[in-house]
Amino acid sequence: MTPDIAIIGGGLTGAVSALKAKEQGKEVLLVRMAWGATALGSGGFDVAGDILRIPGREWEDSLDIAKNIAEICRRTPQHPYSLVGEEIHPLIKNKGEWFFGLLREQGYEMKGSWEKNAVFPTALGTLRATAFSLGSLSNGNILEMKGARVLCLGISGLSDFNSGFLTRSLYEKLKGTPLEWKKAESGDLPLKGWIGSTKNPAGELSSQSAAMALDESDIFSSFVESVEKKTKGDGYSHILFPPVLGVSRWKENISALEKATGARCAEVFPLSPSIPGMRFQRVVDSLLGKTGINVIQGTVTGCTHNGRRVTGLRVIKQVTEEPLAAGSYILASGRFVGGGIKAYGRAFAEEIFGLSLISQETSMSTGVRVNPAMSPCDEAGGVLYGNLFCAGSVIGGYDPAHEMCGSGVALLTGVLAGENAVRNL
Ligand SMILES: Cc1cc2nc3c(=O)[nH]c(=O)nc-3n(C[C@H](O)[C@H](O)[C@H](O)COP(=O)(O)OP(=O)(O)OC[C@H]3O[C@@H](n4cnc5c(N)ncnc54)[C@H](O)[C@@H]3O)c2cc1C
Repeated sequence: MTPDIAIIGGGLTGAVSALKAKEQGKEVLLVRMAWGATALGSGGFDVAGDILRIPGREWEDSLDIAKNIAEICRRTPQHPYSLVGEEIHPLIKNKGEWFFGLLREQGYEMKGSWEKNAVFPTALGTLRATAFSLGSLSNGNILEMKGARVLCLGISGLSDFNSGFLTRSLYEKLKGTPLEWKKAESGDLPLKGWIGSTKNPAGELSSQSAAMALDESDIFSSFVESVEKKTKGDGYSHILFPPVLGVSRWKENISALEKATGARCAEVFPLSPSIPGMRFQRVVDSLLGKTGINVIQGTVTGCTHNGRRVTGLRVIKQVTEEPLAAGSYILASGRFVGGGIKAYGRAFAEEIFGLSLISQETSMSTGVRVNPAMSPCDEAGGVLYGNLFCAGSVIGGYDPAHEMCGSGVALLTGVLAGENAVRNL
């Protein structure tokens, strides 16, 4: 059966567009090569970070999301927030409540605020602002840890987490500020029963392997026992862990640790590859499945068109190429990590449709040029294909790492592309 809408890309953006189109009763087919940048994300949902921050000044001054959005729009007229032109802050909040409601139905609670960013420690010992985060990370908001007695607890042999370094750098960063901690200590505990077990014969201890180990109830029980023993009587108010407390059982595991220690427990924000990113992508995938959206694994290599209308896609599934036709199309293929934009030295290309790109002052904001309806257009604003819409990080004109707006743009443009693709049928 020919779908009403075909979507290229299965990260956050593709999923949001698919859910929006499906909600309006349309038949949706989503094609994706693999997981993209969404699965590498930190578990933080960035809407508009701290671009107003002034070195040496307190965080509080720069955490207002509406003010950060206004500043982004002032500085970058090509930014998707600027293009949409409406009051962006209430619009994102409205679309975000809808999407978070769907996630909540899957048992996945995003914690945070649409008004003010929270600030979290990362595994590198730096601090990072974001609007929302997973429950397992959210207790680590340093704005709520003033005067805390903190233990940073690592896992012996886990190479990408150094509890001593992390503790020292966070303590030093906060010292002398209103957010200073009362005490900060560190330690490491072994993951008993994992190295050399039948499930891990190679004896590997990467973040992924540690997270898999902590999904095993016997290994986790013995870990909780060691944590309880280590913390008993020391009066810690907060315990920070590496972001590996289970791939699937992280919610139950955090609750068990809080119950055993009486302290607030949190994972710090990860390096890549990211277990919280994988968890987020898995919940998004399960939402697509439960909503009845057809997802196929394949690579879209090109398109057919009749003048300014796309008439079909060429999709390689395993080794065979098959045509795919739909009424409208959405390109949500990501940027460099997802694969939507290719870099050849200093030249960049979108290769499925050959769309016109914006190359800003840094390659980090390179991507497809769109108009406010999310239609791809040329430099003069002429629409290239009437039934194609673009969304998320394949769009140019913004830098998610600098403006810290990756998920906000994915959400907003994903919804708009989904709505406009339906309207266009
Ligand atoms: C390392 C990293 C970490 C980040 N961390 C955060 C964070 O913590 N918080 C945050 O808010 N933002 C973060 N971002 C920004 C992030 O990119 C966006 O928030 C958002 O997740 C992007 O989603 P997307 O769906 O547009 O792209 P992606 O998630 O990259 O998805 C692109 C999809 O398109 C598919 N695809 C591409 N080409 C084809 C093709 N030819 N055929 C079929 N399928 C194709 C890919 O397989 C993939 O499924 C991060 C970005 C990076 C690179």
